[in-house]
Amino acid sequence: MVFCVVGAGFSGAVIARHLAERGHKVVVVDERPHLGGNCHTERDAQTGVMVHRYGPHIFHTADERTWAYVQRFGTFRPYINRVKAISGGRVYTLPVNLLTINQFFGTTLGPKDALAFIQAKADRSITDPQSFEEQALSMIGPELYRAFFYGYTRKQWGLEPTELPASILKRLPLRFNYDDNYFNHPYQGMPENGYTAIVENILAVDGVEVRLGCSFESLTDTFEHVFYTGPIDRYFGFRLGRLGYRTLDFERFVDDGDHQGTAVINYCDEQVPYTRISEHKHFAPWEQDQFSKTVCFREYSRLAGEGDVPYYPIRLVHEKRMLDSYIALAREEKAVSFLGRLGTYRYLDMDVTIKEALAACDLIDTQLAAGTCD
Ligand code: FAD
Repeated sequence: MVFCVVGAGFSGAVIARHLAERGHKVVVVDERPHLGGNCHTERDAQTGVMVHRYGPHIFHTADERTWAYVQRFGTFRPYINRVKAISGGRVYTLPVNLLTINQFFGTTLGPKDALAFIQAKADRSITDPQSFEEQALSMIGPELYRAFFYGYTRKQWGLEPTELPASILKRLPLRFNYDDNYFNHPYQGMPENGYTAIVENILAVDGVEVRLGCSFESLTDTFEHVFYTGPIDRYFGFRLGRLGYRTLDFERFVDDGDHQGTAVINYCDEQVPYTRISEHKHFAPWEQDQFSKTVCFREYSRLAGEGDVPYYPIRLVHEKRMLDSYIALAREEKAVSFLGRLGTYRYLDMDVTIKEALAACDLIDTQLAAGTCD
């Protein structure tokens, strides 16, 4: 059988390899000129530094199957994501932890006293937080919320935190010890040769034909089944409207040596127009000393327009309603499966993307055995 996979990111690559390993022919198309989707990495031509073209990507997971899977296709070096934040002209550590609390309030509290201190600041009258703001106030109180979340969130989403769902903040850890590891997952790392090399290795299997710079819409071939990891609204010609996304603009600059001494600094104050600066040589500490120059990116967030790269799905009430209508249309397309962050219109970390793609592979096996595939 001949299958088509639209998109050469992690979702598409995992599915394509699986089908090829089952003896099928697979045509993988991506309209971009490179593999890796939004996780694409490449050497910066001027500095030689490995850059994450669509923004910083740190691999982290708690899923054993996913961790074992990615390691088949490349070496992951140990890497711990430690983020700094500038607020009110001072530097802090994130996520909010005991050092952040003590620095911010000028205290020397231990874990138990800090917990009591923050609990006393938290707004106890909010028992069922409905918005991002209510969630923050009920967790950390007004001072930390204003300093670290209010301005940053307004810049990132272009909305008042009162208009955003509480669920966004539930994901952010709050720690009463000095652990400043941004993620809680047991496995965390950075691919030694970048993410694109991993995707390239996943796709390096007999039966897979990759066509880059090729849009799905331009294909004239016929396929048994299509696995579509592009935007679901685009597949249907935006006939029910466009699902809203935030996009990012990256302002590149080069400096000598070391610019900021760490990979990521968040700028929490609203007066600073960008949300963060990432300095990519620090994502590969094992090789950073070999570069005399450094390349950095200021990151600006705005509403995506036609032609912009879709980054973060907005997923407010209006978009969710539109998504439900697109999902109803998708169910009618028996020869097409919609996967990945764009095909399902969700923010998905890489590990979740891979985990879901592997689960889809299990389903494909069951369906192929039963003679169906939808
Ligand atoms: P994508 O990588 O977007 O791949 C889809 C591909 O389909 C694209 O290459 C696109 O060109 C192609 N395509 C779409 N439509 C068509 C068409 N019609 N014809 C041909 N080709 C088409 N995750 C983490 O785990 N850790 C992180 O630190 C992290 N940081 C992130 C930072 C940012 C700024 C963002 C936005 C995301 C981050 N993620 C991170 C999430 C990560 O980017 C996603 O998990 C991953 O990209 C999802 O892979 P995918 O294959 O589903 O989609």
